[in-house]
Amino acid sequence: MPEYRKDPITKRWVIFSTERSERPKDFGKVEQVIDSQECPFCEGHEDMTPPEVYALRDEGSQKDGPGWKVRVVPDKFSILDEDGDLKKAGKGIYDTMSATGLHELVIETPNHMGSLINLEYHEIETFLKVIKDRINIKKDDYIIQYVLVVKNYGSEAGAKFKHSHSHSHIVGLPVIPKRVREEILGAKEYYEFRERCVFCDIIAQELSENERVIINNEHFVSVCSYAARFPYETAIFPKKHMSAFENTPDEYLSDLAHILKDTISALCGVLDNPAYNIVIHTAPVNQIMPVLYHWHIEIMPRINKVAGFEWGSGFYINPVLPEDAALHMKENLRS
Ligand SMILES: [Zn+2]
Ligand SMILES: [Zn+2]
Ligand SMILES: [Zn+2]
Repeated sequence: MPEYRKDPITKRWVIFSTERSERPKDFGKVEQVIDSQECPFCEGHEDMTPPEVYALRDEGSQKDGPGWKVRVVPDKFSILDEDGDLKKAGKGIYDTMSATGLHELVIETPNHMGSLINLEYHEIETFLKVIKDRINIKKDDYIIQYVLVVKNYGSEAGAKFKHSHSHSHIVGLPVIPKRVREEILGAKEYYEFRERCVFCDIIAQELSENERVIINNEHFVSVCSYAARFPYETAIFPKKHMSAFENTPDEYLSDLAHILKDTISALCGVLDNPAYNIVIHTAPVNQIMPVLYHWHIEIMPRINKVAGFEWGSGFYINPVLPEDAALHMKENLRS
């Protein structure tokens, strides 16, 4: 029997239709491209990217030369114009706005085969710290209302490059994205009614039910979402209430690196190296919402196609129950 589940924050419905379920191994697999000759992110290929705007460098190394651990460059293919002024206009009922904003790439490791699951925990911790620092710098730009951090792995997930050299995008937007706005509205409604953070309540319930929790360390928990849109969709939450990722204390980042790598490793173990997207949902910049919003990471494996029903209805059909997904992922945790 299919089951409908409603997301308690966004009120979005998901239909779980497990009869349609395929074996997890039948889903698509990302082939790693080993050849690094053409890779603009490899150490020694610094001239293939625009000049770096920041890098964690070995002492004595030269800007835009080898000898770095994490390197940040503007995205050559940015959809946003960094120098333009923000112009908004209306024509009748239609609104338009200049595509002003910022788009940076964080090259997370100098090593070509360094996909997230091949990186050491301390390397992940280091690039998370760089991302955090970059968001804090971007926040001061008066045009920026929201900083979105995205990671695309595999062409099914929209990665532009054939090679799989580990990198993330930091996008500073002049508006708050719709998905985040929906979460804020849902959290606000919940807060007005109960005077509590909806995310904190979800975390408490997930920990007590322990049906969808994958990993629970000192500061973070990863959970297959109750009303997951996609098979194996997973979220990572800080257990302590925090509205903004970029305000996370540095001493928490080691725990975050561990839970991120181990959760992705479990996912790759079950689904045989699937394409996926990772987004960090943090509070909008310069908006005071310390009690309402609770930052989190969403991990969305891209293993099934969104069809006409989803596009037309806004409902999602998910063939894998999150309880089963969590169980499979827990079996794949490295002991
Ligand atoms: Zn490379
Ligand atoms: Zn909270
Ligand atoms: Zn979210």
